[in-house]
Amino acid sequence: MRKAQNWNQPCPDKSCEMYGQMNKGNISGISTYLTKSGSRSIFKCKCCNYSFSETGDTVFFDLKTPEEKVITALKMILVRVSISGISFVLSIKEVTILKWQDRAYRKADKINKILLKDIAVTEVQSDEMWSFVKKK
Ligand SMILES: [Zn+2]
Repeated sequence: MRKAQNWNQPCPDKSCEMYGQMNKGNISGISTYLTKSGSRSIFKCKCCNYSFSETGDTVFFDLKTPEEKVITALKMILVRVSISGISFVLSIKEVTILKWQDRAYRKADKINKILLKDIAVTEVQSDEMWSFVKKK
């Protein structure tokens, strides 16, 4: 059997002894599936036998906004549309977009994988993709 990995996924079952605890070795990845937004994993908690899918909220915590819209906003940032421009086009508050941008920067690897499916960029660009964000 493969060694337990650290998935950074806590057990989401509130009745589980290990609920909310990350990287205790109780979570194993059992499969992956594809969504419009990229590949997602299915996990299982060994403690309570609960299986659950990885949700976009590990990247996109703002569940009030459809992931598609968040991704569109991030793409617009990447092609250097101004925050006020994005705010106008998508009818999203500037402060919200700034929050997404900040999160995207911190989760750049994961988000890049999602965005790169749709935008043609080279590897070099993807490494540098978010660096301009931080400079601001
Ligand atoms: Zn559990």
